Amino acid sequence: MRIDIVSLFPEFVAQCAAFGVVGRAGERGLLSLHGWNPRDYAQGNYRRVDDRPFGGGPGMVMLIEPLRDCLRAARAADPAPARVIYLSPQGARLTQDKVRELAQSERLILLCGRYEGVDERLLQAEVDEELSIGDYVLSGGELAAAVVVDAVARLREGVLNDAESAVQDSFEDGLLDCPHYTRPVEHPLGAVPEVLLSGNHALIARWRRQQSLGRTWLRRPDLLNEAALSKQDRRLLDE
Ligand code: SAM
Repeated sequence: MRIDIVSLFPEFVAQCAAFGVVGRAGERGLLSLHGWNPRDYAQGNYRRVDDRPFGGGPGMVMLIEPLRDCLRAARAADPAPARVIYLSPQGARLTQDKVRELAQSERLILLCGRYEGVDERLLQAEVDEELSIGDYVLSGGELAAAVVVDAVARLREGVLNDAESAVQDSFEDGLLDCPHYTRPVEHPLGAVPEVLLSGNHALIARWRRQQSLGRTWLRRPDLLNEAALSKQDRRLLDE
């Protein structure tokens, strides 16, 4: 998968993606990240990428031309069609379903805004969709882009050593994940639940499912309305 980052600080996103699972995906050739800086496409001695907003008010707005030329160069760098995503607090909220959908693409271009944002005309002309990572405002789209890169890359085939671990993660089946324990069995902070030591896979699966359901009910009851629950799940919830 190829992801192009259009940003005034493209190295920032690349740094965030240089570690752990996503870093390994890069090393294994499963993910290639490319940074593009609109300043390299700006004109004049000052290479301006922003200007004051029409109508007055605080802050600056990112100019159309450097961004458009930069986006076009990024598009042209590979023949595969790219989906252009603008990271924006006004976009659709990023969910695991959306991440799964994005992970099917072979190419994404992530556009990161700064200042007050980007001239609306550029967004209308060049962007396929806007995505938000939550209802708060960041000072730039780079952290949001890094979130997208990380969440998407780990779902690509071959990136996780154990593909099963993604399937068991929170949101994959609409529920939160169950709690996890490792050695030692006994610790001043508590003991590992006995069922996990039983070796009985059916009992362990049942316990994990019940924990998942219980946690979701306690922490994110909104998810239960959307989750596809079986009769067995409903019984576990009632126990
Ligand atoms: N004036 C804009 C507004 O209120 O919608 C906010 C601009 S923000 C200071 C600068 C940039 O940060 C945005 O252009 C966007 O790329 C990015 N950004 C801020 N919050 C974000 C969020 N929650 N999700 C994704 N990107 C975000």
